[in-house]
Amino acid sequence: MTAACDAVIIGGGHNGLVCAFYLARAGYKVRILERRAIVGGAAVTEEFHPGFRNSVASYTVSLLHPRVIRDMRLVEHGYRVIERPISNFLPQPDGGYLKLGGGLHRTQAEFAKFSAQDAAILPSYYDALEVVADVLRDLSLKAPPNVGDGLSMIVAALKQGRRIGGLSLEQQRDVLDLFTKSARDFLDGWFESDAVKAAFGFDAVVGNYASPDAPGSAYVLLHHVFGEVNGKKGAWGHSVGGMGSITRIMAQVVRNLGVEISLESPVASVLVDGARAVGVRLESGEEVMARNIIANVGPKLLYERLMTPGDLPADFRKRIKGYKAASGTFRMNVALSALPDFTCLPNAGLAGAGEHHQSGIVIAPTLDYMDRAFTDAKTQGWSKQPIVEMLIPSTVDESLAPAGQHVASLFCQQFAPVLPDGRSWDDEREAAADHIIATVDAHAPGFARSVIARDILSPLDLERKFGLVGGDIMHGNMTLDQLWAARPVLGHGAYRGPLKGLYMCGAGTHPGGGVTGAPGHNAAREVLRDGALPGRWFGRA
Ligand SMILES: Cc1cc2nc3c(=O)[nH]c(=O)nc-3n(C[C@H](O)[C@H](O)[C@H](O)COP(=O)(O)OP(=O)(O)OC[C@H]3O[C@@H](n4cnc5c(N)ncnc54)[C@H](O)[C@@H]3O)c2cc1C
Repeated sequence: MTAACDAVIIGGGHNGLVCAFYLARAGYKVRILERRAIVGGAAVTEEFHPGFRNSVASYTVSLLHPRVIRDMRLVEHGYRVIERPISNFLPQPDGGYLKLGGGLHRTQAEFAKFSAQDAAILPSYYDALEVVADVLRDLSLKAPPNVGDGLSMIVAALKQGRRIGGLSLEQQRDVLDLFTKSARDFLDGWFESDAVKAAFGFDAVVGNYASPDAPGSAYVLLHHVFGEVNGKKGAWGHSVGGMGSITRIMAQVVRNLGVEISLESPVASVLVDGARAVGVRLESGEEVMARNIIANVGPKLLYERLMTPGDLPADFRKRIKGYKAASGTFRMNVALSALPDFTCLPNAGLAGAGEHHQSGIVIAPTLDYMDRAFTDAKTQGWSKQPIVEMLIPSTVDESLAPAGQHVASLFCQQFAPVLPDGRSWDDEREAAADHIIATVDAHAPGFARSVIARDILSPLDLERKFGLVGGDIMHGNMTLDQLWAARPVLGHGAYRGPLKGLYMCGAGTHPGGGVTGAPGHNAAREVLRDGALPGRWFGRA
C-alpha cells in the first residue's frame, strides 16, 4: 500500500491534468494514475507512421477555457494556436462549393451564391447565437446547482437563472429554441439554402449519434460555438504540434507543482469503506489511498466497471445504466503523398496549400444527407454516403509530416457504436475505412492513391484505446436529459458521486465534452470547498 495523498485522480486526460493543477496550486498532494503510456486522454499527438505525427483523436481547438489557459500559463509554456483562414469548405452535389468563414463579409458574399436572403440575415443569426453562447460561456465555469441540496440548491439555481432572465424576450426565445429544437427546425427558422443549413447543421451531428431532425440536436450545434481562438469568439484553430502539445504542456505545469503522474497504471477498482471512497486498487495490485478519489474517466466506466455494484445505491446504479454513451464516431489518420485535388476547386495554379486545404473540409452537403447517414447507420451499421470531415493540419504545421507530404484527420459521423446483427468492428473497420477514403476520392480523384498509411479508430477502437465507453467522444450524449445539473445524473451534477470522497472531473460532467478544461476546473473547486484541509486556503480554483 502506498502512503495516502490528498487526492488521487483516475486518468490523465486534459481534465484530470487541469483538476490536478488547481488542487496542487491550493497545496494538495496529488497523484494521477493514467492507464496509457502517455498523458492527455483523447487530446494526444502520436506518430502513426514513420515521420508522420498527428492528433490521434481530438484534432481542433476552440473550447479550451481562457481562464484555464491563463491560470496554467499555457502560452508562457509554449501553447500556440493557429487560426485557419476560413473555417469550412463544403463541396456541393452540383459541382460547386461553399466556403464558410474568413470574416462576415466574405461569408455573406459566399452565401449570396446560394441565397441573397441567407446572406442578409447572417449578421442577425451570428448575433443571436453569440448571445446564447455567452450564457453558456458564463455557466461553463460554474458548478450546476445540486438538486436535492435544499436551500443552497435553490439559491444557486436562481443565481444561474438570472443570466437568462436578464435577456430580452426574443433572446429567451432563441435560448429555448437552441435547447429544445432539432437542428433542422432551428436552421429552417433562419435560412432557406440547403448548403447554408448544412454548413451550420454539421456541428449538430458532431459526436452526436442522431439525425439533425432529432429534438435537442440544435444544442449540440451551440456546444460547438461557445469557444474562442486567440480572443476570436466561435473560431476554431490548430494547436501547433497537435492536441498533444496542450496536454504535454499541462503535464509539465502540474509536475512543476509537485503532482506525481504515474503512467501505465490502470486502476482496476475504487476501494470503499462504508459509504466513503478511500482509495483505488491498480491492476498491478498496488493500493493507493487518498482522502479524495477523483475520476477523470466517464461515468459508465467509473460506476459500472471500476466499482462493486453493492457499493452504490441501487437507484443510482439504475440511472447510470440508463446514461447514454455512444457518439457514432469513426476516426482515421492518414499519411498523404500529396494534397487532395478537388474537382470543384482544382489545385491548378496553386503554389502550395489553398485556404480550402487549411479548413475543415466537410462532405455532408445537406441536412437530408446527414439524416440518411444516421438512418443507414441504425439499420446497416454505417452509410454508403458517410459524413466526413477532413482536416489537413500539416498545411499549417510543418512539424507533423516530412516536407512536401501531409497528414490528414478524417473525422466521420454516424457509424453505429455497436454494429447490428452481431457484426463486429474488428471485421469491418478496414471496409469502412476504404469506403471513407473512396468518399473523399469521389470529390478529389487521386486521393485514395495518395494515402501512404492509415491509422483507423472505429467506435470499438476508441473505447479500447482511450476508455471511451461506446466510443463516446463526450463521455456521454449531450442531450438535454444529460446536461448541466443532470450530468451525469440529477442530484449528482455538481461533480460529487453518491459516496463521500468520490468526485468526477471529466467530460461526463458539466459542461460536457470537448477540450475545455472546465470540468477539471470546476471539480477541483468543489473538492476544495468540501475538503478544506485545515489551515489551507481554498478559494482560488
Ligand atoms: C475522435 C475524437 C475527436 C474529437 N475531436 C475533438 C476536437 O476536435 N475538439 C475538441 O475540443 N474535442 C474533441 N473531442 C472531444 C474531446 O477530446 C474529449 O471530450 C475530451 O478530450 C475529454 O477529456 P477528459 O479529460 O474529460 O477525458 P479523456 O480525454 O477521455 O481522459 C480520460 C483518461 O482516463 C484514462 N483512463 C481510462 N481508464 C483508466 C483506468 N482504468 N485507469 C487509469 N486511467 C484510465 C484514459 O486513458 C484517459 O487518459 C474529440 C474526441 C474524440 C474521441
